Amino acid sequence: MKKSTLFPKISFLLLVFVLPGCSQNETAVHHKPVIDNSQSPYTKLRGIPMQDTKLTEGFWAKRFDLAANKMLEAQERTMLGEGTANLNRLKFAAGMIDEPQHGTPWGDGDNYKWIESMAHVYNMNKDPELDQKMDYWIEVIGKAQDPDGYISTNIGHDTTKRFQRVNAHEMYNMGHLLTAACIHYRSTGKENFLDIAKKNADFLCRQWKAEPVHMARYPWNPSVFMGMAEIYRTTRNPKYLELLQIMIDNRGSRPNPDRDHRYGGTDQTQDRVPLREETIAVGHAVTGNYYYCGAADLYAETGEEAILAALERIWKDIHWKKIDIIVGAAKDRHSASLSPRGDEVHENFANTPYEQPNFYNETCANIATGMFNYRMFMLTVDPKYADWTEQMMYNTLNSAVDIEGEHWFYANPMSWDGTEGEKIKQTNGPDPERLVPGHRSGERWEFMNCYCCPPNVSRTTAKVHNWFYNISDDGSLWINFYSGNKLETLLADGTEIALTQSTNYPWEGKVTITIDNIGSKSVPIHFRVPRWTEDALVTINGEEMNEHPEPGSYLKIERTWKTGDEIVLDFPMPVRLMEANPKAIHLNNKVAVMRGPVVYCLELPKEDGGAEMYTNGIFLSENINLTSEYRDDFLGRVVVLKGKAFTRAEEEAIKKNNSQLSDEQISSDWEENELYRPLDSMKTSPEAEGSVDVELIPYYAWANRGLSYMDVWIPLVR
Ligand SMILES: [Zn+2]
Repeated sequence: MKKSTLFPKISFLLLVFVLPGCSQNETAVHHKPVIDNSQSPYTKLRGIPMQDTKLTEGFWAKRFDLAANKMLEAQERTMLGEGTANLNRLKFAAGMIDEPQHGTPWGDGDNYKWIESMAHVYNMNKDPELDQKMDYWIEVIGKAQDPDGYISTNIGHDTTKRFQRVNAHEMYNMGHLLTAACIHYRSTGKENFLDIAKKNADFLCRQWKAEPVHMARYPWNPSVFMGMAEIYRTTRNPKYLELLQIMIDNRGSRPNPDRDHRYGGTDQTQDRVPLREETIAVGHAVTGNYYYCGAADLYAETGEEAILAALERIWKDIHWKKIDIIVGAAKDRHSASLSPRGDEVHENFANTPYEQPNFYNETCANIATGMFNYRMFMLTVDPKYADWTEQMMYNTLNSAVDIEGEHWFYANPMSWDGTEGEKIKQTNGPDPERLVPGHRSGERWEFMNCYCCPPNVSRTTAKVHNWFYNISDDGSLWINFYSGNKLETLLADGTEIALTQSTNYPWEGKVTITIDNIGSKSVPIHFRVPRWTEDALVTINGEEMNEHPEPGSYLKIERTWKTGDEIVLDFPMPVRLMEANPKAIHLNNKVAVMRGPVVYCLELPKEDGGAEMYTNGIFLSENINLTSEYRDDFLGRVVVLKGKAFTRAEEEAIKKNNSQLSDEQISSDWEENELYRPLDSMKTSPEAEGSVDVELIPYYAWANRGLSYMDVWIPLVR
């Protein structure tokens, strides 16, 4: 382990707690960051308390409202309804109803994520009804919990049935309980849920110590790693950190000679090779990303370099070779394929590099990729992690829910063929013959048996503003993401700072930051300059800075700020045609369109004659002029891109005249770390405009207009 080079921790705490002039609010003991690394010795950046960022207007305020006012209720209706009954199963386990209830093994986790979502919303709006509703369900959970702290509504109260199957999701569910309880405590200051969580964490500590070999292939889906880190951070009880260390050390220590993932010890759950020796991202993309998040949390506490090195290797494998441009992580669906080491895997990271595009991209795996990136950013301050975090926030997080906030996607495909998609027989509801939407669907659904994604979308939407700011121990403020909000916090040296952001980001690149209050000391503020911008301009109190800051960096400005200082960041957002590394052969001669952090798609709704356009083909010229149009009244407020495309017949005529383009021209000079980059123009299609008017919409807003044809990757005329 390396020595900490950080500002001495004790001084940091003293400054926070004894600073004169702090309001009661600012010093309340439960006011902690969403990922509470406020005392972690080995992180470069720290979160700020959940209470300190208030959304005001603009994109994320609107998304937050959707979560608060629509998503939560829609989920409650479904989770209390017939055919899923996740919440009612809690009541059955609590002895409050007599009829056994249906649900998936991981349904408890859905319940806890729903409560966690409410805790995030309550943190912002302090709605007493929400508080009461949380208390009600916490009481139910308390009654459903066994006296020794174990809880699973799927396994029930028979202790002989516990931990008999590694994929029964017992620890996945309990992991979400631990996280939800910590967030509930940080949001409300109440300890009712936290007490249940402590009892549960104590049980897990006893269970693992008593049966370490039996438990080696648990937890199958390791959300409990993050849960254990947060319960340690909340209580400072070292035995919880010890258990997290044991769990991470155990992973991969007992590989399974059998290839069947249901028994653990295989690549499906990153359980064949110990983390410190792993070189690739392999297996289930949710379990993988949750594992990497938990390991990142462990590194923040212990500083073991081998863990960080492994996470960096794995990160590169994902982001240099395997991830979709919308930040889609999971390649295959349920039909098993084989990992590079021969294990059966499903919902997995691509088994071979450059297998884009993915047609699956399960929502939870995408969100978890953002969670992994944000943790890596705080550990290292490397801006590339912030860029990928933002790309997840604006694309696949939002694509998983409709503009009404009531219907959901499990898979987030890169292309759609106008069909309804799969239907599956309900396996666990009152009517097993009922057909319900499958994992890959052309329209978002209200209900599906596997309900893990909706509450993951709501909790993430309701919390991403917690990722906007960080502080570091040298007294700096870091501004990562831009959206209308007010910040009031303390820097690590005790300086109070308050500021207001106003912007129409991501539709416009102009961000105005006004200093509302700040001490008299010189304060370094680091502004994120996104990697996609060009010629960014920074103006302070009307005075332009001389140099354009580097895209993909943080611009540090240190000065003695004054109340009323106004910083205007202007990030030009040119429309970019993005090409993929030529090794992704299915994407050769295709482009994805981006503007700012937003990925666009071509959507042709069936109702609007999409079939004919789709059949005739749509091709873009590399010289196409795509104009941006802000539409306040369309798809919940978006910028659309308009231009003229070519039909297949037009493309074929042009291709005849341009047959000289060589493979070498197409695939020259790609760096190892480049999976996508702005198109290197070949200047092979002289005309910019074909005969077809096209309108591209943000990818996340597709499938709000009925069944449609959709493509993110659009063929080029070359
Ligand atoms: Zn999911």
